[in-house]
Amino acid sequence: MRAARYHGRGDIRIEEVPAPELRPGTVAIDVAWCGICGTDLHEYLEGPIFIPPPGAPQPVSGESIPIVLGHEFSGTVRALGDGVDDLSVGERVVVEPYIIRDDVDTSPGRPYQLSPDMNFIGLGGRGGGLSEQIVVQRRWVHPVGDVPLDQAALIEPLAVGHHAYVRSGAGPGDVALVGGAGPIGLLLAALLTAEGLTVLITEVSAARKAKAAETEVAPHVLDPTEVDVAERVRLVTDGRGADVCFECTSVNAVLDTLIDAVRPGGVVVNVSIWGHPAQVDMQKLVLKEIDLRGTIAYAGDHPATIELVRSGKVDLAPFITARIPLEDLVAEGLDALVHHKDSQVKILVHP
Ligand SMILES: [Zn+2]
Repeated sequence: MRAARYHGRGDIRIEEVPAPELRPGTVAIDVAWCGICGTDLHEYLEGPIFIPPPGAPQPVSGESIPIVLGHEFSGTVRALGDGVDDLSVGERVVVEPYIIRDDVDTSPGRPYQLSPDMNFIGLGGRGGGLSEQIVVQRRWVHPVGDVPLDQAALIEPLAVGHHAYVRSGAGPGDVALVGGAGPIGLLLAALLTAEGLTVLITEVSAARKAKAAETEVAPHVLDPTEVDVAERVRLVTDGRGADVCFECTSVNAVLDTLIDAVRPGGVVVNVSIWGHPAQVDMQKLVLKEIDLRGTIAYAGDHPATIELVRSGKVDLAPFITARIPLEDLVAEGLDALVHHKDSQVKILVHP
């Protein structure tokens, strides 16, 4: 079968590789669509980061470069391994793309995303969504019912937003400020709106502001070069400030804005991955008793996330901005994101 494999920084090749073998307790999937993620782009430009370099195999998968890419994917069940009897061939599914030790408890409510040596399918080994087929342990396969397969490929990044929402402790009726209208910021804003929060989003890029307005993920799109964001947030909250803020940019100035805009006793959740240390005005944190929280990926978030899409509360179609075949992954996918990052939300690849 054909697969996109990472051989090193700037070196991604479309190659013929052996199809994965079905084993007991696993599910073979024909991949339909796979999204390109900011993480893939970082690996391409600055990596390997999550990808295990030669000579240093990932402790759980035992694999190192070359690694098949792709962790945001959907597909249909091709075959079921021995012992798997609760799915059917042809059923639409998505994968929660974890590589986690076999002895870690992954039942609902368990914080398995924090377990030692955690990594992701499509980064740390075990195949990936940028290939024709993949075989995955049953516990990571989630049926999506009649959700269209292209939209289903966006359930993984939406689950990141769902986990951030759960971590925030916020609820319907709360006012949320999202820092950044990139793919995660937009999907998170859509999810918060669907959950009944009032959402404001702050963004400087014209293309991303336009996307936020066009997809109607938030009634308020604020540009910090045009308005005082914290002041505008207080204006719509009777002077209180946002109940909860979500950092989705890894830009220090945005974090500063969120610290200013959150109400006393409020929560700031960091969703972005930081490649450098940030500065936090600790005195503001102290005087407002702000809770600053981290969030990574998801744990037990897929069923609720899938239900939001299935029920139509979140429409993922507007976030798909391009569709390309696997052959065009580098030229039309990764390089397009490098050069036209702001006009793209999610590029889907059909392997
Ligand atoms: Zn991702």
